[in-house]
Order: sequence, then C-alpha cells, then structure tokens
Amino acid sequence: MAKRDYYDVLGVAKGATADEIKKGYRTKAKELHPDRNADNPNAEAQFKEANEAYEILKDADKKAAYDRYGHAAFEGGMGGGGGARPGGGQGDFGSAFSDVFDDLFGDFMGGQQRGGGGRRAARGSDLRYNLRVTLEEAYSGLQKTINVPTSVSCDGCKGSGAEGGAEPTSCPTCSGMGKVRAQQGFFTVERTCPTCSGLGQIIKNPCKSCQGAGRVERDRALSVNIPAGVETGTRIRLSGEGEAGMRGGPSGDLYIFIDVAEHELFQRDAGSLFCRVPVSMAKAALGGSIEVPTIDGGRGRVQIPAGSQSGRQMRLRGKGMPALRGAGEGDMFIELAVETPVNLTARQKELLAEFEDLSENNNPETSSFFSNVKSFWDSMKG
Ligand SMILES: [Zn+2]
Ligand SMILES: [Zn+2]
Repeated sequence: MAKRDYYDVLGVAKGATADEIKKGYRTKAKELHPDRNADNPNAEAQFKEANEAYEILKDADKKAAYDRYGHAAFEGGMGGGGGARPGGGQGDFGSAFSDVFDDLFGDFMGGQQRGGGGRRAARGSDLRYNLRVTLEEAYSGLQKTINVPTSVSCDGCKGSGAEGGAEPTSCPTCSGMGKVRAQQGFFTVERTCPTCSGLGQIIKNPCKSCQGAGRVERDRALSVNIPAGVETGTRIRLSGEGEAGMRGGPSGDLYIFIDVAEHELFQRDAGSLFCRVPVSMAKAALGGSIEVPTIDGGRGRVQIPAGSQSGRQMRLRGKGMPALRGAGEGDMFIELAVETPVNLTARQKELLAEFEDLSENNNPETSSFFSNVKSFWDSMKG
C-alpha cells in the first residue's frame, strides 16, 4: 500500500505552520479516540498513520527533509510503525493513545491513568501553576497566597469512593486487571476496562458526594513562600499539593513555574543586574559622582573617572540579585551613556565653540584618529 502524504493524513495544507499541524493532529487524535471507534476496525491503523505523520511534521528538521524528499527521506531506519515516540508501544493501542493524549491535553506530566490498570488507588496528577513576579519581588522573595483549582480527597467517604467508607470489590468485567482484550479486525486490542475505567475495582455503593471518585473539585488557597533570587524558569515543588489521588491514592505535586517580568530600569543576567545611566558630557569629561537607583529601592553612588567614554562600565558590588540557594549577592553594573547636550542657550553655544577652538590638536584621541585618516588617504593615493 502506498504511503499517504503526511499533510493529507493530518488534514492540513502543505506548508502548514507548526500550530496548524498540531491542531490538525489533535483533531485527528480526537476523531480516532478508541472510545469513539469501538466498531471502526481501521481506527488503530489510522491513528498510527496520524501519529507517524505528526512525529515527522512537528520536528522542524524532519519536516524540512520530508518537504524535500517525501517519504524517501525516512526509508530504511526510522519512521514506520508507531513512529519514534518513546512509550508508543506497538499492539497496545490504548496505552499509546493515552501517552499521546497526555502529551497533548494533559495538565502537566502524566495523568492518573498512567501506570496501567490493576492498581486500586492511583496517584493524583501533578499540577502546574504559572506565577509571574516582578524583579523587585524576585529580589526580596515573597509570601503569596494562590488559588489552585484542584481536586481534593472527599470528606464523605474519606477518599475511598464507597458510601460509608466500605471496601471496593474486584471488577467482574476485567477480574481486577483494569484492561480488557477485544478483537478488532486483525488486531487484538487491549483497552481500558469500561466497567472500572482501568482501576480494577468497582464500588457497589458509591459515595453520593463524589459519585465514587473519592475526590471532589475545589479551589484551594495555598500560601507559598517564593524565596529571594528566583529566575524565570525556576520551579518550586510543593510536595503532595497537587491533585488528590483516586480512591485514597497519594496526591500529586504542585509545581510553581516562576516567570520574572521585564523591568524598565534593570536587565538581569543570573545574579548580575545591568543599568544604563545617562551622564552629561561635562561630567563624563571632568569626572564626578552620580547617583543610581538600586533594586532594593535605595540609591547607590558611583564615582566617574575624568574622561569616561560612553559605554564605560562600572561595578557596584553586592547590589545585584541574591543567589537562590546559598549566600551572597551578585553585582550591579552601570553602563554610562554620555549625552550630547541639546537645546543650547546662546551662552552655552559660545562656550562650546570656544571649547572646540581650544580642543583642536589638543585631544590625543582625536588627533591620532585624524593622523590615521591622513595616512590612510596617503596610502590610497600611492
Ligand atoms: Zn466520596
Ligand atoms: Zn474492570
């Protein structure tokens, strides 16, 4: 059978963007979900085909190779079957599928179904919470109360899912395995047990508060301590503060992902802070001290040596960001931006003109520049 064009497989146009490709794949994956395709013998093959197409097209390098050479780019070696995705076990449609679904739709790292059936209590999902802080907050650290929508253990049944806390019984459909086998065309497909949803156990008399899940949805206020020195990308793990487990299983973890907002004055590079400070031409030439803002809200003073050029960098020790773990603070670097005066009064112009007259042949840098120019012109003539 000739291979179909990958773009056709995902139902997108040639040259589709990464977003369109992902969208196309999602749509296909939903269409081909095993729960909707109990009597479509081709669903598995079609899903594998879509999976393979997506593996190639989502990868910029592989996509480029495919655009250029077509299927020939991947003949011999990689490609075929379930594609190169890890964990995409052949012959286990259901679990390959749930992996993909977790990738595409999962909150963050794994759903409670992962790990297979036969387990009575499943660990709750890990949750991700994005927290944006200012640079000042990252400098000082902060205590913050966040509202996390999550599911918590049901009080009515103490998390067991059974009315009055009774013990669940082994599922008769799958004999506690959590999975059932079914014949679909040529394939024997293993699917999550429809009776117990893969848990391997059923509850005869489900708890009324949670309909037998053992957990209920709730917004939870959590006070979190964000330490000084966090950066964009810092992850803070709150162990056991994720989603409650199914039927008394352990809770997942909550991960707080920090994003530090841009600051209008300071740029940050790890522990160092950078700040561009304008200096008047006269001060740069004569030297003197200037006042600069610091991230702690205070002021610092830096001494400018006479004859400073624009771009000169000065260091204020210990005025940078604190280290996240361990002691010590980084430094702050001040870059001078020497400003040419504008909107001069007549008197200022007069003084500058006089200054210019006096400066001719007197400025070592300028004169060496002009002598270089002169020798350059001379060499061009010769
Ligand atoms: Zn309950
Ligand atoms: Zn079952």
